[in-house]
Amino acid sequence: MGILNQRDYRSAKSRLAQLQAALGPDAVVESLTSKLSAEVTAARRQAIYAEANRLKEDIEGYEKLQSSGVISKEFAIDELGLLPIIGRIARRLSQRELGDLLDVSEQQIQRYESDRYASVSLSRYKKILEILGVDLHSKLKSAWSTSNASEKDIQPKLELDGALISAIRKHNWVALPKGIAPNSASQILATYVSESAEFSRERTLHRRHVREDELINDTALAIWQARVLRQSMSQPQKHRTKFNIVDTSWLAKLAKLSSQPDGPVRAIEFLRERGIVLEIVPHLPHTQLDGAAMMLSDGTPVIALTLRYDRLDSFWFTLFHEIGHVLLHFNHGLEAGFVDNLDTPNNSAEERDADLFALSALIPDGIWETSPARFSKSPDLIRKLAESLGINPAIIAGRIRKERNDYKIFNELIGNGSLRSMFADRFI
Ligand SMILES: [Zn+2]
Repeated sequence: MGILNQRDYRSAKSRLAQLQAALGPDAVVESLTSKLSAEVTAARRQAIYAEANRLKEDIEGYEKLQSSGVISKEFAIDELGLLPIIGRIARRLSQRELGDLLDVSEQQIQRYESDRYASVSLSRYKKILEILGVDLHSKLKSAWSTSNASEKDIQPKLELDGALISAIRKHNWVALPKGIAPNSASQILATYVSESAEFSRERTLHRRHVREDELINDTALAIWQARVLRQSMSQPQKHRTKFNIVDTSWLAKLAKLSSQPDGPVRAIEFLRERGIVLEIVPHLPHTQLDGAAMMLSDGTPVIALTLRYDRLDSFWFTLFHEIGHVLLHFNHGLEAGFVDNLDTPNNSAEERDADLFALSALIPDGIWETSPARFSKSPDLIRKLAESLGINPAIIAGRIRKERNDYKIFNELIGNGSLRSMFADRFI
């Protein structure tokens, strides 16, 4: 997408400086004082490095365009709305200067550019291109048929069944009239999916990075992902805090939120203030998803949780696993997205890293290794450790149950049945 104005340029440069500092020699101190394990620290560096490279390319592309009018490959001009923006930069005009030429305010140009000229009138659009000396060439394709256009739009081949249709209807995600023919439902949902895909960084919904060993139903997965993207986009975007990949100082605070009775609800606002969108989206039939991490087209990380298990330990572990994907795989897999069923064994380095990240961000490794609570049969030791860490006992009980592979113990500590009711509007 690239950088399209001076303000973004300045902020990209300062972010790049921050990333470079985080990769520099002083950063060793941070890794020593942070509680993350060595493997995870390596993945962190890689993610920061990838983000620094991406920013560097954006900055260079903008500078090149500004200095020589040469459009580098970062600017794919497949959008009419981008043309006047790129034309303005190449002519070295500021938004104010272009505004002056058109007799409109600088703010008006800012508004045009922020929605990629979606709201401009055709006559003004032509006038702007004329001022900037941008020529539009068009020609009619020789091969054309009316069926072409609509079939191409509906990319995903959807396989719907009654269970899926009734779940979608129950959640009221898409209006599907009762008794609708499967064919029509399939068309409506295909449009829903392909339109939603536009909101994601890679503009497609695909099944890369799926952690689930059961055969997962592609249709259910695509519709679920589409719903996550829609829900994220429905939040006000203006004043969205920019996510800062360097900063991890808030992790311990988030873990401590778990000790509050309404911690899961508060986590949403807490993460929003740090530039991460957290959505609760129930899973659909034919998928056994716990959560997912993905990236919106503007680079905002999105985490979605299904609350498939109505338990606090599962909420916090899944949330931290997905945060692991955000902090470790930003620009390194997050654009394509991760979709998780955490009951299945981890099947890749990314999954292993996200698991390790979640474990050590919730309970520091050193404390866990030496704690007697780990081998305890009594809930008291667990409660005591939880209290000293300031976290919910469910997190510790959940970890013990998993380590001992015994899901009958410490039932009283894991907050069974207490989670979904906090998000009752999502579970009608
Ligand atoms: Zn994962």
